[in-house]
Amino acid sequence: MKNRFDAEDVDAAAMLAELRHWVELETPTLDAARVNRLVDHVATLAQSFGLVVERLAGRDRLGDALIVRSAPPGPREEKGALILAHLDTVHPVGTLADELPWREAGERIYGPGIYDMKAGALMALYALKMAAQQPGPDFLPTTIVFAPDEETGSVTSKDMIVREAEQAKFVLVVEPARDGGKIVTARKGVGVFDIHVKGRPSHAGSKPLEGRSAIKEAARIVLALDALNDPARGVTVTTGTIRGGSARNVVPEHCALQVDFRIADMIGADEIVKAIRAIGSSDPDIKVEIIGGLNRPPFVQSERSKKLFDHTARLGAALGLTVEGVFTGGGSDGNFTAAADLPTLDGLGADGAGAHTHEEYILKASVPVRTALIANILDTARAVAL
Ligand SMILES: [Zn+2]
Repeated sequence: MKNRFDAEDVDAAAMLAELRHWVELETPTLDAARVNRLVDHVATLAQSFGLVVERLAGRDRLGDALIVRSAPPGPREEKGALILAHLDTVHPVGTLADELPWREAGERIYGPGIYDMKAGALMALYALKMAAQQPGPDFLPTTIVFAPDEETGSVTSKDMIVREAEQAKFVLVVEPARDGGKIVTARKGVGVFDIHVKGRPSHAGSKPLEGRSAIKEAARIVLALDALNDPARGVTVTTGTIRGGSARNVVPEHCALQVDFRIADMIGADEIVKAIRAIGSSDPDIKVEIIGGLNRPPFVQSERSKKLFDHTARLGAALGLTVEGVFTGGGSDGNFTAAADLPTLDGLGADGAGAHTHEEYILKASVPVRTALIANILDTARAVAL
């Protein structure tokens, strides 16, 4: 497969100047006004690239979703390419001024959300600009979805992503690359549970025997959850938060747990959901309420996803990139499209490290070459046999 675009065709200087602006507009998921400020900017930039912009008003007090297309939407005979990106980050406003300023150090550039995933989102936009400007014969209509809420589970974006995926031949996710530039070919599924334990309060001194401790019951539940861990099968269950009690001298009435679980396949998912829901109360005077379930289904590499990977690896080799795949425990919006049986390739964003930490950085040199890789995938979209 011959590449139309090389790393040298990418205007890396313009991209890095643009990236700095994206990073400096801090966009924590729950700050809709700030997310929307970046949406404004990306929409204007996309229009200046000759792309078609559609904006969906935010729901649940979250920011707007932005859809950027190479051609106006509408029914067409041939399915296109879909790229998934998100504009929100996990970093609160002020991270830039305090713990993680924009900083260039040798090959690295640090900044909040730069690696997860403002660089990848920007790379998708520039790759589409390159591939769509004078489209080759194998270019297919391409859509980029910029979600506003990926970091909190894409609750308001999921339906829109699944809808766009119905028009897609394949899906590229520009989440960060892993472990030295690897792309992501499979991900664990992710689920969440909220557990609320209601006991009976009483005075810890004068009437201790009348109380039913919600904290004690919750402690039993935490250990029961922990016993469900099965790393060999890719099953992890973590009680991430616990909150309970009202005062030192009161047998506690309430205790609440937030639980995260990860599984490698749907069989594991069904088992874990069943097992967690079956954790009941050990005492008739204590009520245990368990709410939740699977949020992102497991992303298992299908035959067709493997073909998309092989195609990408060939394009990468011609750019001097060794494209390797990796299985990761973190979920992404690629989980939705892979579970809908669409060929999906993830981790096509920038190389770097430190996602969700104060050491978050990208490797500068990965931006132009991986932008060219994405542009070449789009440029050969019709030719790839899936
Ligand atoms: Zn991300």
